[in-house]
Amino acid sequence: MSETEPNAARRALVTGASRGIGAAVAKRLAADGFEVLVNYRSGRESAQAVVSEILAAGGRAQAWGFDVAHRAQTEQALLAVLEQGPVAVVVNNAGVIRDGLFHDMTGEAWDDVIATTLGGFFHVTRPLVPAMMELRFGRIINMSSISGVRGNKGQVNYSAAKAGLIGATMALSRELAKHKITVNAIAPGLIATEMIAAVPPQVVTQIPARRIGKTQEVAGLVSYLCSAEAGYLTGQVIGIDGGMS
Ligand code: NDP
Repeated sequence: MSETEPNAARRALVTGASRGIGAAVAKRLAADGFEVLVNYRSGRESAQAVVSEILAAGGRAQAWGFDVAHRAQTEQALLAVLEQGPVAVVVNNAGVIRDGLFHDMTGEAWDDVIATTLGGFFHVTRPLVPAMMELRFGRIINMSSISGVRGNKGQVNYSAAKAGLIGATMALSRELAKHKITVNAIAPGLIATEMIAAVPPQVVTQIPARRIGKTQEVAGLVSYLCSAEAGYLTGQVIGIDGGMS
């Protein structure tokens, strides 16, 4: 028997949803029937466009601007979000790259990436967990990366942050399983978004599937992880990389 999902559990927050993977996830979860909170940092108009597309398709969505790397700003925004009711699904998707070889890496490049990925995970997830515990239903999905699983040259900061996110996923899954809250990480390979604009096209020769992945393919996996039938799947790192790992 799969777990039942309370009606109040139909609200989802997707961070970094103004474009790329986050936007695809927001649209998919809205199509699945969630009211989606579309978070953005700077791309207000793009986030509004995602919301408009969801509304036009008959779904429910709101744009919420806050910088997940900023603790006070995020906590304040989430207080307002929680006043409207619990958030049962959170997709910690916001992420940045500041690539460069380690011997030349600036402190700023290190701090930006760690603050967005690891700081963002903490700032966003912790305030939402008590309401999920009360609901006795929750889905926490952390967007890691193949770089966090096996490391990538020129991405010591990013690999460290994404590996840290995997550690957080595994530890938190053990704390929350008894509350019927699952915590999983997704580790995409190369997915067609602005983030990989600088990656040379010949990289496909290193991908067994011989192509770059689509944002909708990641969104489909998120959709499954959010479903009631995925209630026994927790503490996992799921690669979606055309066979790269
Ligand atoms: P994009 O660069 O296309 O989009 C990143 C999104 O994150 C934007 O919506 C951006 O918002 C938002 N964002 C960045 N920093 C913050 C912040 N501090 N607070 C709130 N939002 C923020 O990236 P992708 O869609 O490609 O990547 C999404 C996630 O997937 C990232 O975590 C990335 O590391 C991961 N990933 C991507 C892969 C790929 O090949 N594309 C591979 C593996 C992992 P705004 O523009 O409004 O500032």
